[in-house]
Amino acid sequence: MSDEKLSGYYLWAFSQDDCKEELDIIRRGLRHAYTEERLRQETALKLYNKEIKGSVSRLESFAACPYKHFLRYGLHLEPREEYRIDPKDIGTLFHDSINEFFLELAEKDLSFRNLDNAARLALVQNSVAKVTSQYAILQDGAHNAYLSKRVERITNRTIETLKRQWEAGTYEHIESEVAFDAKQIPKLQMPISKGVMLSLNGRIDRLDLAEDGNSVWVKVIDYKSGQKALDYSKIYYGIQLQLLLYLKAATEREQLHNPGKEIIPAGIYYYHIDDPIVEESEDPETAIYKELRMKGLTNSDSNALAKLESGFSSASAKSEVVNGLQKKKDGDFDARASIASTEELQKMSGFVLEKSKELAAEVMEGKVSATPVAAIDDVCKYCDYHDICRFDTRMSGYKKKRCEKKTKDDLLGRGQQDEINA
Ligand code: SF4
Repeated sequence: MSDEKLSGYYLWAFSQDDCKEELDIIRRGLRHAYTEERLRQETALKLYNKEIKGSVSRLESFAACPYKHFLRYGLHLEPREEYRIDPKDIGTLFHDSINEFFLELAEKDLSFRNLDNAARLALVQNSVAKVTSQYAILQDGAHNAYLSKRVERITNRTIETLKRQWEAGTYEHIESEVAFDAKQIPKLQMPISKGVMLSLNGRIDRLDLAEDGNSVWVKVIDYKSGQKALDYSKIYYGIQLQLLLYLKAATEREQLHNPGKEIIPAGIYYYHIDDPIVEESEDPETAIYKELRMKGLTNSDSNALAKLESGFSSASAKSEVVNGLQKKKDGDFDARASIASTEELQKMSGFVLEKSKELAAEVMEGKVSATPVAAIDDVCKYCDYHDICRFDTRMSGYKKKRCEKKTKDDLLGRGQQDEINA
């Protein structure tokens, strides 16, 4: 409705005696301005029971918007469940199917490396059927039957690609859906302030291990149903802590399993679960494989590179496994290659623990402001709580939290430190 029409209605209503109440509501609405509020510290302590316990994604959600965290983890408000399959369910279907595949592989004592195409497909079909049969809705109607077929096709593509990427390197041991918590890994339980604790837990999609003399190399992979890449600014501001926390948990876990050995972080990666359509080409399978390269951060040590991909060691090498991992003719890494030394990877996972503590302390101080970060485009668009917070930058007081661009050096403490508490 145009502003002109609206003010016409308003003037008309203003002249009517029986519209006073409604007009009052409109007037108050027009004057509404958001002001940041805080819970009293005692209230926050009671609400969270003196312990912040959960996955690091809980803290990421606080860093993305403290009010969203308060509604979800403080008041335990959940969206009403509907009888439909939404994008989150699709992601779960893929994760469960991939996990089921690896479980069956282990149960049948089969080698991932030596599995032929027919055996792989049979195992995928079996795993997907087992998972989808648990969803009554998927047995309901032609559209959902198509969805089950789509899950099978994309899972098959995923397993085929993961297998090829695995075969490119020399890792011997693979673990799927590795659960961890502060009971197993004491370093994940940290005091925040007097009597208040932070206890982190989680589940790593995939953990690859390689033993080499007195060393154990640890590689972490997270499956995502959407595109995702590592972003130092997001890590710095606490909205992308997961992969580095998983690396910390995995290396600590391996240290407990292998006392006396050196545990070396080899890399952290996102794998995009997809069956992409590629431009017409002579070799579409190669083009699809290239499109599905992982994204992440690789240890620049030559041993780590050789374990990741045997062919990647010489000058001018271009990784077929990790997107952007490339060397120039002189043997140096390309400027766009996402690499870090062992020490840098260790420092970055240490940063994530410190950041987690810092965020947990803010939760306990009662921070509940509706200040979504500008660094995530769709933070409000896909939020379940918009009807409660009514965040609207056209209204006075509502504003997004701006985050400056940060680099790897900022995480390593060589950059400006003053923004950490922003
Ligand atoms: S809609 Fe935006 S401001 Fe409101 S709770 Fe969700 S993320 Fe926060």
